[in-house]
Formats: sequence, structure tokens, C-alpha cells
Amino acid sequence: MKELEERIISEGRVLPGNVLKVDSFLNHQVDQRLLTNIGKEFARLFADEGITKILTIEASGIAVAAFTSMAMDVPFVFAKKTGSLNLEGDLLTSSVMSYTYQKEYAIAVEAKFLSPADRVLIVDDFLANGMALKALLAIIRQSGAETAGIGICIEKAYQHGGDEIRRLGYHLESLAVIEAMSEEGITFRPRPEK
Ligand code: 5GP
Repeated sequence: MKELEERIISEGRVLPGNVLKVDSFLNHQVDQRLLTNIGKEFARLFADEGITKILTIEASGIAVAAFTSMAMDVPFVFAKKTGSLNLEGDLLTSSVMSYTYQKEYAIAVEAKFLSPADRVLIVDDFLANGMALKALLAIIRQSGAETAGIGICIEKAYQHGGDEIRRLGYHLESLAVIEAMSEEGITFRPRPEK
């Protein structure tokens, strides 16, 4: 998605440890026009998948899920990092090794929010090693629902989480795929027209 790539080039900052900071438009301050277009693009790319629900993980997936949910007119659910006291009832749980924080944490979704009849679209801001995604896939598996698609804003291809997920046969769409990144610059993988 050209608009997203241009924003990454003009405002993204490459930090030590291979972290791309995009907090002026994606995951701290949120640019409503860009996110509206991201939501519409996911709605277009997954239009044939019969999506009934969107799933993401707090905190930075929530804005992406909210705009996609409006574009697709289906509800979204976000997995909570546990320790949260206001979860109750049956829980679907999994654990994530955090790339940005370098520690493991548990996530949970109340079972009543995902049913075997659901066709779920997972969305998130970044895909790096694929740990967050795998935890969300495990939660969907426990619920009996089907994962019908995965929409990622920024995939860092050199960390290979995306390759693994594609090999497993999932319909994964990333709007900007970074092939290489350093303080000198960022190279994107050309995206085929769809
Ligand atoms: P993964 O689990 O695929 O290794 O990493 C995905 C998660 O880590 C995303 O949900 C995102 O919050 C965070 N993350 C991974 N790489 C980056 C990055 O370069 N920049 C930012 N801001 N977050 C990242």
C-alpha cells in the first residue's frame, strides 16, 4: 500500500535492535485518514472470506482492528494481556514472547466472544517473528472458530514469521513488507496488484 510505505519512509525511525518506530501515525498517535484507508484495504482484500469477527491483541492492534471493523461492519475482539482483573468466565489463553519487550506474557479472550461458527480475521500492526500471531492462532483454535485471514500493516520479512505463516497455508496479506532496514534506509518488497 503506497500510502503506508510513504508514511514509513517519511516518518518512521529505525531504532537499535531492529525496531521500527511509527508512533506518529500507527501505534501511539493514530492518523485517522491513513487508518480509514488501511481498514478499507483489508475489507477489500478479505471481501470473499465471509469474515464474521476480527481478532487482535492489545494494545497496538486495537486501532487497526477498530478501523477494519468499521470498514467490514463486523465486531472486533482484542486479546487482553493477563493480570487483568476484569476477565471472568471461561477463558481462551495463550502466551507470547514479546519482540519489543523481550519477555513472555500471557494473553486471554473470554470464550463467549468466539464461537465455532465464526470466521475470524486476525489483524495487527507488525509481523516480525510471528509470536503474537501464533498466540492468536492458538486462541482461535481453542474456540473452534476458523481463521479465515490475517491482515498485517507492516511485515518485517527478514524476521521470517510471515514465511512460516504462509507455509502453513493461511491467507496472509501485509500492506507493507520490509525486506531490509537500517539507519541508512528501508527497502520494501514490491507488492503484487490484487
Ligand atoms: P512478533 O510476535 O511477530 O515477533 O512481533 C509482533 C509484535 O511485536 C507486534 O504486535 C508489535 O507490537 C511488536 N513489534 C515487532 N516488531 C516491531 C517493530 O519493529 N516496531 C514496533 N513498533 N513494534 C514491533
